[in-house]
Amino acid sequence: MPLYQSAIDAMDAGIVLWDAQDRLVLCNRQFRWLYEPLADLVRPGVTFENLLRAAIARGVIEAPRPDVEGFVAARLLEHREPQGPLLREMPDGRWRRITEQRLADGSLLAFSIDVTALVEKERALEAARAESQHARKQLQDAIDALPEGFALYDTDDRLVACNERYREIYASSAASMQPGTPFEEILRYGLARGQYPAAEGDPAGWLRERLHQHRHPGEPLLQELPGNRWLRIDERRTRQGGVAGVRTDVTELVQREQQLRQLNHHLAESRAQLQAVISTALAAILTVDASGLIRSANPATARVFGWEPDELAGRPLALLVPDAALHLAAGQGVQTGGDLPARHRDGRSLTVHLALSRLNLPGPAQHVALITDLTEREVAARALREANQRLAQLSETDALTGIANRRLFERRLTEEWQRCARRGESVALLLVDVDHFKRYNDAQGHVAGDHCLAEMAAVLRSCARRAGDLVARWGGEEFALLLPGAGVDEALAVGRHCVAAVAERCHPHPDSSVSAHVSISVGVCSVPADANMPVASLVARADAALYAAKHAGRNRAALAPD
Ligand code: GH3
Ligand code: MG
Ligand code: MG
Repeated sequence: MPLYQSAIDAMDAGIVLWDAQDRLVLCNRQFRWLYEPLADLVRPGVTFENLLRAAIARGVIEAPRPDVEGFVAARLLEHREPQGPLLREMPDGRWRRITEQRLADGSLLAFSIDVTALVEKERALEAARAESQHARKQLQDAIDALPEGFALYDTDDRLVACNERYREIYASSAASMQPGTPFEEILRYGLARGQYPAAEGDPAGWLRERLHQHRHPGEPLLQELPGNRWLRIDERRTRQGGVAGVRTDVTELVQREQQLRQLNHHLAESRAQLQAVISTALAAILTVDASGLIRSANPATARVFGWEPDELAGRPLALLVPDAALHLAAGQGVQTGGDLPARHRDGRSLTVHLALSRLNLPGPAQHVALITDLTEREVAARALREANQRLAQLSETDALTGIANRRLFERRLTEEWQRCARRGESVALLLVDVDHFKRYNDAQGHVAGDHCLAEMAAVLRSCARRAGDLVARWGGEEFALLLPGAGVDEALAVGRHCVAAVAERCHPHPDSSVSAHVSISVGVCSVPADANMPVASLVARADAALYAAKHAGRNRAALAPD
């Protein structure tokens, strides 16, 4: 056996050399062992094609059926123009790598080595990779299924993984959440897009604090998002030194808390207002239990009843208002009682108004009693009534003569005009003027003149005494008499009576040209009242009558000329 044969037989690889016509030139022991079922054929001169077909026929090489010819043709082509190493599984299940190489003289050297261990390692690696991918996918599915936002950052604070919810929560920053992105970069990206309302005004300070919190996770944090939305952030260090964070939407909780805080504030406010009202109220305000015992009282009880609030606790409300029990028994809603008798501590009788209101609370009945002292109010009201009456009287009385003034006269004139119109009656009006009164004044002085006018008023009043008659001072030295229902004759008679009555007084008037005494002229008219006619027409007629009386020589009564 030549030396090279021994050398190649010693090699681990299977070696075979084919000549340019594809006939076997030589092979080594390993090759023969590999193709042991073809041992009878493996000898110099056998063609590659014959050996290939025999290998297929004997099951040494598995050819895909039914296209065995196609496989043979492809293998022959490959063999003629080798492309690179082939990997082939042998019938014993081991793997070999076959390398074919054309030599310069056209012959082909092929050698194959056992790569089973390599292939198995690669397969194991592949399986491990698939398994890890599967595990990773399962993990992603799991965190995606979480209702909370989840994110994992590695030791360098780079994003490892996060779920959809996390992206949803930080919608403005979602685009920056690629695995490998540093936490700080994600924060800055969100900051630039208004993701964190709390950062407003001092984004740098906010960022510094947030990074510190992130690197030193402790208590859960509350974080505001735009639109008054709120997150709870729970961050924990992982065993590898990364940070795992869970974000829970607590908007509803926080908003409810905000509402509660606001409500509490309003409540405190209204309680303070109520307390202020109760403590400054002039009325006595007490709370009373179901059996009529006082539980609390306001400071006004001291002023109204003479009892200090503390002294009243536990005493019956009937101590203050004996009839209160009746109202308490009446039950629901607000019970009020006006002008109830009550008692002051010093024994004085009081008149009060009581309002009892049952509190709408669970448990035994409770009432609030509001007691207003009417005693003082009564006194004040009476005084006011009297003052008003006096005022009304004064405003319609002539100060000098004490008879009605022109204001009252005109009011009554209008009323009687309407009333007599409805009844179809006449209204008589008499205008009285003192004769030559200027001369009287000039001679006797103004004070005497005033006295004289007062006397004339009294005389005239005595002349019109029927119910409904009214004597008033018209102004200056003129008077007016209103005689509702009086006809012309009656009115003229009253006028003449007035003239006579003044004359009877014999009040000296030396400067008068008509008499030695003060005299009067009277204009008389009586007109059927007519609501369609102005009352002024009646006055005009009386005025015309007065003018006629003066013209006829004064000291007389005259009718209005037709
Ligand atoms: P005749 O007969 O034409 O009515 O003449 P007479 O002087 O009465 O009329 P005249 O209108 O010229 O004067 C009215 C006078 O009445 C003028 C005024 O001095 C006087 N008089 C008016 N009011 C008062 C008053 O309140 N007190 C006094 N003392 N005199 C008054
Ligand atoms: Mg006059
Ligand atoms: Mg006169």
